[in-house]
Amino acid sequence: MSRETCYRCFWPRSLCWCPSLVAMPTRTRFVFLMHPKEFKQEKAATGRLTHLCLPNSELHMGIGFDADESVQALIRDPHNHCVLLYPGKEAVNLSLPAAIPGFAAALGPRRLVVFLLDATWAGARKMLRLSPSLQRLPRIMFTATAPSRYVIKQQPQAGCLSTLEATHELLLALTRAGLDDYPLPEQLLALFQRMQDFQIRCARDPARAGYRRRPYSDPAARVPACGRSGARNRYLPGPAPVAGTSG
Ligand SMILES: [Zn+2]
Repeated sequence: MSRETCYRCFWPRSLCWCPSLVAMPTRTRFVFLMHPKEFKQEKAATGRLTHLCLPNSELHMGIGFDADESVQALIRDPHNHCVLLYPGKEAVNLSLPAAIPGFAAALGPRRLVVFLLDATWAGARKMLRLSPSLQRLPRIMFTATAPSRYVIKQQPQAGCLSTLEATHELLLALTRAGLDDYPLPEQLLALFQRMQDFQIRCARDPARAGYRRRPYSDPAARVPACGRSGARNRYLPGPAPVAGTSG
């Protein structure tokens, strides 16, 4: 196989994803801030593939972003309402209908700009520590509608989502809130599935380095391993514990 790399999707040219990516317009601007370790370690690079599907998105690599001129220009622009996807007590949960009127009022006629940290928990914390301008952004979160579909990279914590899944869930929540349009919700997930199928085939192929003898376990059946040393906990929110009633 050719070792030449496609410098758009960063996969080998022979496996390049680019022809299969369908541009999906969104009202929201997505800004993926990728930790350099993520770039090196995450072979699947779902953050990059998501960025390539969304024409209204940008991707920047780094750890501290206070000196990043394009990021700072977005934050300064009075036409933007910049928020950070980061779960926590002070985050507005866009999956809760009661939170929407207040959020929509704060947004006003401005463009919603969502910053996503493409990193592990530890990486995301460091990025925030080194970026006071990101710390000051209002925070949003969502309640995921489905557990992670990630089989390849063992999600250490039930409900940790890949960047692609988190973007999908956020678009679902924004669309339900009337703040965006997401006409092809299956597209990102189909892309995710194709990527996983390919990686599983590779992992089972004894001719390839990194051959895996045991099959991957079902993500839903895994025991959460929070706090396990070396676990790559992602910071993105997981699914709701158990929904009571649904409208
Ligand atoms: Zn490519």
